[in-house]
Amino acid sequence: MKGNISLIGNYGSDWIRYSDYEFKEASDGDVYITPAGEASYTMYNPFNVAEDLIIDLINIGDLALKLEKNEDKNERKELIKEILLFTRKYGLIGLICASVYNRDIIGDDIVLLIENNIITGEKMMEESKYVEQFIPFVEKGDVEFRRYKNNVDVVKREDSPKYHGKRPVVLDLVFSKFYTEKLNWIIDFAKLISSHFNQLLIYKNTTGQLTENVTIMAGKFHPHKIGFTIDQLDETNISWDFDSLKTTIETIYAFAVTDETTRMDRCKHCNSVYIASNVRTKYCSSSCRNLANVQKSRERKKG
Ligand SMILES: [Zn+2]
Repeated sequence: MKGNISLIGNYGSDWIRYSDYEFKEASDGDVYITPAGEASYTMYNPFNVAEDLIIDLINIGDLALKLEKNEDKNERKELIKEILLFTRKYGLIGLICASVYNRDIIGDDIVLLIENNIITGEKMMEESKYVEQFIPFVEKGDVEFRRYKNNVDVVKREDSPKYHGKRPVVLDLVFSKFYTEKLNWIIDFAKLISSHFNQLLIYKNTTGQLTENVTIMAGKFHPHKIGFTIDQLDETNISWDFDSLKTTIETIYAFAVTDETTRMDRCKHCNSVYIASNVRTKYCSSSCRNLANVQKSRERKKG
């Protein structure tokens, strides 16, 4: 485990990212983000980039929340660019897994959607209808779902990882080049984490006035399908087993905001989020600290 946040345990299974992503518009006008045609993939451990992952996502959420209040063409472009960079660094977030209770999804008749999911207001859906939302650009023969008596197989026209039942079957699809997510889904998730952090800071700053536990954004921030097991090598360890980057992010975020040895806060100068190993840090960077000091001394001179 690297970095500042004390993450308990190991990340059991790697996530995928492609070298490049592109935006595609579906026939209904919705914009999707998907691995680019010639892109190659690498597997990585999100726990090793935990701080950057959280900060980058909250920055996207901040930009999106700002645009909600005040639409600006240049800032919209900036948001799109940030999302592209995010996917190149971390991949898509695995919403197909994170939005339903079903484990394998592929091969089930019906999927049960979790409450307040980002995808749809429906509570139940036919598996094929549900899965189609994540593969709107596939052509005949790209991906096939073969049902056998006791299992189901995902046959892909490319060479992305296959797990042969060791991980949920749906990951064979998520890790392929054919899997896509709507731009707005990613934006909605980033906004949710960003808003949650804002709420948390409000409550934190009113400590002393709270007389009982407050659940922050109850129902809205309510991660599902958090799996773990116990590993033994030199020491006994929790081994986290997530089937989506979304759940991974939610878990890292929960560790980050509850960790007493680091400080996660917003910069007193530029309001960006930062995570610092010194709990007395008030700025995101030394340049913000310097700028704030210059400002303070100017105000002192004026006064
Ligand atoms: Zn700053």
